[in-house]
Amino acid sequence: MSTTPAVPAVPATPLLDVRDLRVEYRSRGRRTVAAVRSVDLQVAAGEVVALVGESGSGKSSAVRGIMQLIRPAGGEVRFDGQDLTTLGRKELRRARRDMQMVFQDPFSSLDPAMTVAEIIAEPLMVHTDQDRKQRRASVVEMLELVGLRREHADRYPHEFSGGQRQRIAIARALILRPRLVIADEAVSALDVSSQNQVLQLLQSLIAELGIACLFITHDLAVVRSIADRVAVMYLGRLVEQQRTEDLFDHPEHPYTQALLSAALVADPRVQRTRRRTRLEGELPDPANPPAGCVFSTRCPLAIDVCHEVAPPMRPVAGGGQAACHLVEPA
Ligand code: ADP
Ligand code: MG
Repeated sequence: MSTTPAVPAVPATPLLDVRDLRVEYRSRGRRTVAAVRSVDLQVAAGEVVALVGESGSGKSSAVRGIMQLIRPAGGEVRFDGQDLTTLGRKELRRARRDMQMVFQDPFSSLDPAMTVAEIIAEPLMVHTDQDRKQRRASVVEMLELVGLRREHADRYPHEFSGGQRQRIAIARALILRPRLVIADEAVSALDVSSQNQVLQLLQSLIAELGIACLFITHDLAVVRSIADRVAVMYLGRLVEQQRTEDLFDHPEHPYTQALLSAALVADPRVQRTRRRTRLEGELPDPANPPAGCVFSTRCPLAIDVCHEVAPPMRPVAGGGQAACHLVEPA
């Protein structure tokens, strides 16, 4: 008799379940920018999902739509079964306790007028009734968890390096033991060695605490060690999703292949004989997207149908999905 239960590829009730998400920017006299156009994305409890795509592809807009920092133009964002798009301010505030964020810029995301202790304790002030002493104890515990010292508590953000500031941001994001952390380009502004350190720290803390993570980056190279799954975004749409090892082994979409070539070329330790797909030209204007497949104007493999018909996401071998007319469906 087997005691190992079968693990489904996509769990029945994901922690975060995003369906047909649309995020638009409207400004008077200008064309509406559809920054996110029909994105489906799931993150299971404890899972790390990377959302990858070049700058301008709509990743941060998707985050704003998920967090309800912008009300989506369409779609559902279920967190723990509850559709956040239907919640009022008060209910949202309660739901946000369990979804915390780490932002990119370590030099502007921390209030320069607050001490490190005040910054890290802020979520406790908003969401708990802990007293001063309890908050101080939690802050000291978090400082040690992220590799800083209790003496750092009463200093100000400008006294710290970029890597240390991201540790402070991580301490703030984790102090409530949320169920999901959304990290938007959390290591992108750092040099490579602090990038690796902060990445390792985030990875070990979320694993230890069982926290799920939506890890957003334009740099495919950094997701390999941290992500269980990778979703690739291009011009407001997802074009591919696979388990991380599968995506690196056999990227299906030509856009993913191009991103991966670029990431491998940039990595001097990696020597590959893999066919290189170079990414030419610029991301099209999202206010004026191409007909058919969003990638058709830059795709080296595009044929007539690609310029006419948008390919749907279809299953590929290995349990992932890709949206490309030329990919063999599973
Ligand atoms: P990414 O995070 O992947 O770099 P963004 O979500 O920041 O992408 O941007 C996606 C698109 O939306 C871009 O074309 C960007 O210019 C546009 N955009 C982002 N924020 C705004 C805004 N506040 N108003 C109008 N357009 C915006
Ligand atoms: Mg962004």
